Amino acid sequence: MSAARPVPVLALRVVLVLVALVLTATVSGRGTAAEAAPTAGTTASSTQNVGPALGWAQDVVYVQDDASSRWPVAAATKALSKGSSLRLVLVARCPAPGADGAPVQCIRVSSKDLGGGTLAGTTDWTFVKSTNKLSTATVQLNDRWAKHASYADRLNIAEHELGHGVGLPHVKRTSSIMNAVAHGRTKPDAGDLRALKARY
Ligand SMILES: [Zn+2]
Repeated sequence: MSAARPVPVLALRVVLVLVALVLTATVSGRGTAAEAAPTAGTTASSTQNVGPALGWAQDVVYVQDDASSRWPVAAATKALSKGSSLRLVLVARCPAPGADGAPVQCIRVSSKDLGGGTLAGTTDWTFVKSTNKLSTATVQLNDRWAKHASYADRLNIAEHELGHGVGLPHVKRTSSIMNAVAHGRTKPDAGDLRALKARY
């Protein structure tokens, strides 16, 4: 009789699923950054220590821009593509994953009403912990905030969020696009370029 056979098979399957879950949890990391509007004295709501060289594996990174026309995402991609080997390329749609299973190097940018506070935008990313290489990046911009913001501040925030999307952390310099508060900075400063060159 072989009636007992299905039981050990089922037990084995459960163990395999558990092992798979544990592996998934340990090989990837996750981060989130939220921005404050340029009101006096506002500080960032969160800063993640993401490591010194978090970035994409390759220099060409696609940007899928689904944000409203208030957000100068195209100008931001141009500004960030100068001074290092990083090339941000606007596309209508992120490329489909290849057969090799490598991460699609694409930042998805969208916008909506994120509320009436000082939040200008957020970026979420995932990365492989062993290599510090990004695997996904998603930017969300606040349309309500943008309604009352200057062009320079909107461009500052668009560059800032794309900066997170390519691995840059917050810095304290107010001349930097990566300061947690917008200061109307329309292009990366020398320190930002050094941070980009360290990655691309
Ligand atoms: Zn930020």
